[in-house]
Amino acid sequence: MTEMKQYLITNCTLIDGCSNEARTNQNILIEDKKIAKISSQPISGVDAEVIDGQGKFVLPGLIDCHVHYGGTESPYCRDWVMESDIQQAMVSTAQCMKSLKHGFTTVRDISANGIYLRNMIKKGLLNGPRIVACGRGLSRTGGHGDSYEVPIEIVKRSHPWAVIADGQEEVRKAVRMLLREGSDCIKVWATGGGLWAWERETDQHYTYEELCVMVEEANYYGLPVASHCESAEGALASAKAGVTSIEHGEELSQECLEIMKEKDITLVPTIGLFFEWFSEYDPPIREGQQSFQGNTLGEKELNRIRTNFKAVYDMGIRIAVGADSFCDTLTPYGAYTHKEIHALVNAGMTPMEAIIAATKNGSILLGVNDITGTLEEGKFADLIMLEKDPLADIRNISRENIQLIMKEGTCI
Ligand SMILES: [Zn+2]
Repeated sequence: MTEMKQYLITNCTLIDGCSNEARTNQNILIEDKKIAKISSQPISGVDAEVIDGQGKFVLPGLIDCHVHYGGTESPYCRDWVMESDIQQAMVSTAQCMKSLKHGFTTVRDISANGIYLRNMIKKGLLNGPRIVACGRGLSRTGGHGDSYEVPIEIVKRSHPWAVIADGQEEVRKAVRMLLREGSDCIKVWATGGGLWAWERETDQHYTYEELCVMVEEANYYGLPVASHCESAEGALASAKAGVTSIEHGEELSQECLEIMKEKDITLVPTIGLFFEWFSEYDPPIREGQQSFQGNTLGEKELNRIRTNFKAVYDMGIRIAVGADSFCDTLTPYGAYTHKEIHALVNAGMTPMEAIIAATKNGSILLGVNDITGTLEEGKFADLIMLEKDPLADIRNISRENIQLIMKEGTCI
């Protein structure tokens, strides 16, 4: 057993995830995986390796609430069920390591592999982020988790992040099977996601009654429920049923927003994904462009998403960061989530609010806020140190600008 190293970060600017102000000239003592002391006074008389934080910015380790470590190398849903399970398992280890190397010390994963990755990381066999594992999510037959071109038997056996369940009894059984496998959270595709013609984003996929059964069954064990909602009706049914978070949620009615506020339901907006999709329309819309004419479909869609986001923001509903990375070619692990943090600022948040969304808010949603998400004495030393100021320019949250990543007091 090697002894844990102690560290002392000196004279850094601290963005702790709690306060709305950065604090300069802070010293952070890290002992036994945890933050032992934070002080503006020099900390002396300790046997620790000194890390010079002069001119540097220390933030909590980042949190991505929506990734898929399915291990697929392809953006096409047909391939997802045809690739070898062993290959996917191996690729998934690289995917989670990549997240960590981009400063993500905690993630919520939706995939069959995530439960095993979580366990191996906990055992110290694999270097990856702390994983809150959903296991596979619930999809209806012909839904977002059904690779429709392939025989259903193959889909049921091999889908990397979905399990097919229809009707109240099947969804209850599916939740119980997920509990048996060791899920920390239940994920459901309450609406379509636009993979193919009969799976439109505007279609609701589960009834209110089915959603209630999932929430009821998950709640027996104290598990949260995350609901993929791309239509107003699907989001409303999910909010009424009492899910914990709405994923995507680009169309939320006033009634839905009020329920979200009242029931403390978090939104994981994956807004970078939408910026990218709708920027592909002709003429292209660049990220960072502030005003739109509303002349093209892409512009209209982007305006709709911005307006919806602003309504959520104005209501004071908790917003957390999730990138929806599912294959490295299209949505590169880690880098794509940095873009999501940048996109939140593009959509109207201040850099400090976006940082809090990517740290503290994520930790609350994932139920790990007692151990991580903010830099406070007694919490795990999950942190990143940046060369340039992310409050001056949020794009300074980037791989190139991260000088140090620490997870539970160990330098990555
Ligand atoms: Zn997803």
